Amino acid sequence: MLLQVEGVSKQFHNSVHALRDVSFSVEKGAFVSVIGPSGAGKSTLIRILNGSERCDSGSVLLGGVPLERARSGRRRALQKQIGTIYQDFALVENVSALQNVLHAALPDMRGLPAALGLFGKARRAEALALLERVELWDKAEEPVRDLSGGQKQRVSIARALMRHPVILLADEPVASLDPVTGRQILELLKDLQRQEGLTVLMNSHNLELSRAYSDRLLGLREGRIVYDGPADADPAQLEKIYARGQEETP
Ligand code: ADP
Repeated sequence: MLLQVEGVSKQFHNSVHALRDVSFSVEKGAFVSVIGPSGAGKSTLIRILNGSERCDSGSVLLGGVPLERARSGRRRALQKQIGTIYQDFALVENVSALQNVLHAALPDMRGLPAALGLFGKARRAEALALLERVELWDKAEEPVRDLSGGQKQRVSIARALMRHPVILLADEPVASLDPVTGRQILELLKDLQRQEGLTVLMNSHNLELSRAYSDRLLGLREGRIVYDGPADADPAQLEKIYARGQEETP
């Protein structure tokens, strides 16, 4: 199994239980969407998976290796295999699309070349090929601030791919985009899954889009997994994900 999440819990200092005993696994090449209402714990889960947040208990295993128990060098190597794209793109706006993609290579570079941003011909060629893959070959030298939202998300996908991830986490990747552009981005992620075997774990509050592009859905509600099954399930089966909890009923 590519990714295993075992009994992961997370409570914040304000005593909010963001995740409660969450367990699931993702096999290589799958497109899985984590769905659920706002506040369900979706972003917290992604932050724990990409190492920007620590869980209180439980384990995350990548290729069978528990991330939290790996030594720091090994952990960095494992974490590097988990790419993330975000709703707000998280790009450097005043540099070019190409520079943004190249920046993904910086952690693998040493000393002077890294300090001077001397990426070398091979990395430049790879970054350009990735921009071509996301259909932005003609925008490589444009500053990101001049690109549309959909183009920015394409740059961020190319940047994530530059690190050769075994799994791509997508945190509400189309929530800032208009519906047509959003679908184009999801088509691209779907193509990368189908043609290049990329594994995708996407967070979304949009049930319709998640059903259309995923193989499998994970329903999160109040920090718990309340559904784990096929994306084409009867909608009635998915209602419990959005049903209001007892504690919220007035
Ligand atoms: P979602 O992505 O599904 O909207 P989140 O993971 O952002 O949900 O949030 C889950 C719960 O944890 C919410 O109640 C949220 O307010 C709380 N939460 C998230 N991050 C923090 C934080 N850094 N500090 C305190 N509470 C947080």
